[in-house]
Amino acid sequence: MTELTFLGTGNFLAPPGRYWNSFVMDGAVLVEPSPTALPHLRRCGFAPGDIDVVVVSHFHADHCFGWPFLLQAFSEAAADAGGGRTVHVVGPPGIEEHLVGLCDAGAVRTVHETAVDRVDFRYMEADGAWQEAGPLRFRAVEVDHVPYLRCFGYLFERPGQVVGYSGDTTPCAGLRELAAAADVLVVECNGRHTPPGVPSSHMDEGSVAALHADYPDCHLVLTHLGEQVDLSRVPGTTVPGDFERLTV
Ligand SMILES: [Zn+2]
Repeated sequence: MTELTFLGTGNFLAPPGRYWNSFVMDGAVLVEPSPTALPHLRRCGFAPGDIDVVVVSHFHADHCFGWPFLLQAFSEAAADAGGGRTVHVVGPPGIEEHLVGLCDAGAVRTVHETAVDRVDFRYMEADGAWQEAGPLRFRAVEVDHVPYLRCFGYLFERPGQVVGYSGDTTPCAGLRELAAAADVLVVECNGRHTPPGVPSSHMDEGSVAALHADYPDCHLVLTHLGEQVDLSRVPGTTVPGDFERLTV
């Protein structure tokens, strides 16, 4: 059993009632440091000091612009605890440079400098093999999202099961690999966002329904939802709301 707490379930536009996609596994693994990850951690009853691992699928803003705020919160929690804190950060190649760059873009390089004095950050770049980031055993699977950016889905080993996460993706070999290996797959369902005939960079109701038909034993949990998604077209899936806690 794994507890998934959704800090947000919306896409880039944070449609009404849904903030940017982010969730916590078993109170200790934060998947996607979205722009509202810090306040929503608190709202869901978690403290920044509870988080041992942060996982990033790709470098789009809606997935990681919350990093500088989380970093300051991790830093203060470590200082309050008297030090000795380790936080593992998993992401695409270049993850450390990208997150430091977010602090520079936000004119808070000092937040980064103070945090690295207080917290032992261990960055781990996804390499496609089974890897261990502190308490988390995982395997990254590259998926096809946009041509200019690498994006990874993940398989997370949990007690008695494998929980997967799609990242942002189109229907592709990586997504099928995730669905074949996972007991539960948190999958994005952004919905159609390009005109007819223009390739999409996301899943929609039709591609989620097709995935469900091809992998009926994999429990699909939808996130990264756009306002345009018609949920009546994805029967048999679970659709959490923001701040909802699922036990899967
Ligand atoms: Zn994206």
